[in-house]
Order: sequence, then C-alpha cells, then structure tokens
Amino acid sequence: MCASSHSESDAPVSAMVADAAATTTAPDSTLIADLVTANRILFDQNVVDAFGHVSVRHDKRPDRFLLARSMAPALVTAPDIVEFDLDGNPLTAGGRPVYLERFIHGEIYRARGDVGAIVHSHSHAVIPFGVVSAHHLRAIFHMSAFIGTETPIFEIRDHAGDGSDLLIRNGALGAALAQRLGARAVVLMRGHGVTVAAPDLRQAVFRAVYVDVNAKLQLQAIGLGTVNYLTDAEGRAAAAANATQIGRAWDMWKMRVEGKL
Ligand code: MN
Repeated sequence: MCASSHSESDAPVSAMVADAAATTTAPDSTLIADLVTANRILFDQNVVDAFGHVSVRHDKRPDRFLLARSMAPALVTAPDIVEFDLDGNPLTAGGRPVYLERFIHGEIYRARGDVGAIVHSHSHAVIPFGVVSAHHLRAIFHMSAFIGTETPIFEIRDHAGDGSDLLIRNGALGAALAQRLGARAVVLMRGHGVTVAAPDLRQAVFRAVYVDVNAKLQLQAIGLGTVNYLTDAEGRAAAAANATQIGRAWDMWKMRVEGKL
C-alpha cells in the first residue's frame, strides 16, 4: 500500500469511535431504505459531493438517529446505516469509521423535538451568503419559502476561536450550531456550508435542494438590481402549499436514482 494513500480510518473527516454499550432497537426497514434513497438523491441533485450527510430520527427511539458510516453519500447502502445516540456515540458501527461532524445531527435533534431529518452539505451556491454581511440569504421564490426572510449564520470563531478547521468536531460546537439555528429551517456555516432541518426525510431533501437553488437565483438577482423578496406572509403561505407537494419531487428524484427515469 502506498504510504501517501488514505484509508477510511485516517481520512480527516471521519473518526473511529467504539460503539456505546446500549440496547439497540431496529428501525423500520422502510426508514432505512428512505435514508439510502435520500443519500443518493442528494448526490444526484448536486447538493452533496463526496462530503456532506443526511440523517433521520429513529422511528422507535426519539433519542436516537440514523446516519451512514463515514463514506460518500452516493455509495450508501442499507448495511452502511448506523444508529447513534444524541451525544453522537455510534451503537452499531462495529468499528467502522463514522462522520466527524455527527454532532450536528445529535445536537439539533436534542434541541428541536419537531425535527425529524437533517441534511448537512457544502453545496456551493450557499457559501457566498455565509461570508458576506451585505446580503442575507432569504426566500426569493415560492419553492424556497421555508427559508423565510432571514437566515442565521453560524460563526465558529465565536466558539472555537481562530485556527479551527471549521468542522463541528464535538458536542459543544454542535449545540452552539443548534442554538444559532433556533426555530428555523436553515443555518449557514461561515466558510463551510449549510445545515437544513425538517420534520421528515422528504422535506429535508426538498429543502436541501431548494436552498441551493435559492442561493443561485439570489446571486443572479442581486447582480441585476434591488430584489423584491417574498414577505413573511407570502413565505408562510407558500411554504404551507409546498409542504403538501413534497411527494411529487421525492417520487421523481427517487426514480432517477433508481435508473427508472
Ligand atoms: Mn461539513
């Protein structure tokens, strides 16, 4: 083996963590299948590349969540799904490396009982909005109404000081991120990416896709002139309407990753 090659165990964004000694409960198999599909859709829709991750709250244990072992989302299959507690301890990793930033998920599930699924990505179009103060990411069209009229930015320097690698490496940083997210659906992470929370997997995927679309459109509109954004009231109405149509997008995106479209 070449000395400069990286095995999974020494990849910089994963960690070897021993499983916690706790009773595990098998989640519904359809939940695992949907989580695998979500991983593949997010890659297909250019939300994640080799990095980024999606989780879902355990259907039988609200104090647990499901997340793939450390790997590229496009390659995730059912046996790769690992059960975690909210402290980010794996229960079923069996010695396989886990995502370093799993604390994003555990701490948001802990803080937000209404959240059932979370996507963390480094999707490119959102990055500029995390690093400038002159423009704030906000809903520019009805499909991304869930964003609302402002988006909080998590400044890791406020919590980790200068010289951090920008990653959410522990529970304290995860809790600080969850606090910045507050009751909203989206939090930008300065110089890093974005985290999206939703009631369920389908909505989390939908939001992760459309927050990136919104960022692209907003960048274009800002270049044209003063932007006429959705108001709070329009955003609430459009988000409610979209929430009834999530299945239309999910079904189509799922068919694409299954090679049926
Ligand atoms: Mn990240």
